[in-house]
Amino acid sequence: MGGRGSGNHWRYGTRSTTDEIRSIDVRRWAREGMLRPGYWGGWRWLRDGQQVASIRMRAEADRVILTYRHRTGEGEWKDEEYPIFLDHTPCRLGGSRPWFLCPARGCGRRVAILYGGTIFACRRCHHLAYDSSREDAGGRATRRADHIRMKLGWQPGILNGDGPKPKWMRWRTFDRLVERHDRYVHRSWVGMAVKLRMTGLLQQLGGDIERKKR
Ligand SMILES: [Zn+2]
Repeated sequence: MGGRGSGNHWRYGTRSTTDEIRSIDVRRWAREGMLRPGYWGGWRWLRDGQQVASIRMRAEADRVILTYRHRTGEGEWKDEEYPIFLDHTPCRLGGSRPWFLCPARGCGRRVAILYGGTIFACRRCHHLAYDSSREDAGGRATRRADHIRMKLGWQPGILNGDGPKPKWMRWRTFDRLVERHDRYVHRSWVGMAVKLRMTGLLQQLGGDIERKKR
């Protein structure tokens, strides 16, 4: 076990990271003695016994400093180093339990688990980044497709499939609208597929990260 200042011990995440998302659990780190001020070491994620990712960390009085490199896709490697502040709440039976405070700007939520991407952030921040980027990429196409569906008298939502030609509409108009509709649907799917890869998910949050003074 790593005692005060006796670091450089590598610890291992137990979950396999089939989804490419690395997470860190403050309870696990507390159990491993990793939150004691002065501790330093590393954390590795393994899949089939092979290391797929790693970070270094050191603990200070009220925070842990993460140090790691990351890249998006085949892009350049970038070094990251930033603190994640800790909080403690009393337990009902005495003692206290630790929490991470999400380091994404404007968040600071008290959470047990942070999820890696470009930076480590809480689940909610991941979802926010996911939702807003999906709106950028595929959202406009989806809305345009819905607008055409309205004209056609079809149920809104591209997942609801195509409807019939309205009785009053000319075939030529109908064909033209359907063709445009299908083009927007395709764009919308491409946008969603890109976002679903989750890679670089938190890039925008990474730029916003709050680098508090030591
Ligand atoms: Zn957050």
